[in-house]
Amino acid sequence: MRKPIVLYSNLAATLAMLGFFLLSGLMGTKVPFLADPNRSLGTEHLQGRVIVLDPGHGGGDPGTVGVGSTTEAENVLAIAWELKGLLEKYGAEVIMTRQNDTSPSAGTQFSGQRNGQLAARVAAGNRSRAEIFISLHNDWHDDGQIRGTSVHYYKGADLALAEALQRGLVGQTKARDLGVKRSNFYVLRNTNMPAALVEIGFLSNAEEARLLARPSYRREVALGLLAGINAYFAGN
Ligand SMILES: [Zn+2]
Repeated sequence: MRKPIVLYSNLAATLAMLGFFLLSGLMGTKVPFLADPNRSLGTEHLQGRVIVLDPGHGGGDPGTVGVGSTTEAENVLAIAWELKGLLEKYGAEVIMTRQNDTSPSAGTQFSGQRNGQLAARVAAGNRSRAEIFISLHNDWHDDGQIRGTSVHYYKGADLALAEALQRGLVGQTKARDLGVKRSNFYVLRNTNMPAALVEIGFLSNAEEARLLARPSYRREVALGLLAGINAYFAGN
């Protein structure tokens, strides 16, 4: 008797989910500030801004290799490209610390140095006229149940950016909100502009690892970060 009941409830859940996906598909992907023209947050805040996107790891360093099919280095590079496209669409200029699966220090004066990969990222930001620096990462925890998004800051000037990114991101992806945290990370400590390091989700968590491998979820992440960046420049 157990099986038919389980089957039935699965069928009901499946139908409900199908309905939901059909509906959300018809409505299209919505970004809060783009969806509501009456809100004061327009995309004009992105026009002419110069932004560094720093996809973590790369080259010989895959970053976190979690329980999913993709590495941290792959995930954050794909998200950075997605976000770069969106930012440019709204008139911002984007500098990427790496554009493919190579180390940012390869072929630079920092090659082979201790922390060379990080130093090359910081140098790319500091010698540019960028206004903000955003480092993209995936998290890991020994407890596979742990999930969610956090944004890290270090300098006083980083805090507003970290808060805006955290709000934008969890608002769009509905990931668990782990808040902003002060962390003494190299790229935050050494950049001479407001900087934030985004831990988008946990590759040690099966569900988040699966989501982060998906182009559709990476797009949601990029849209959330776009909303956060826009809100930061809008002073919200
Ligand atoms: Zn990382």
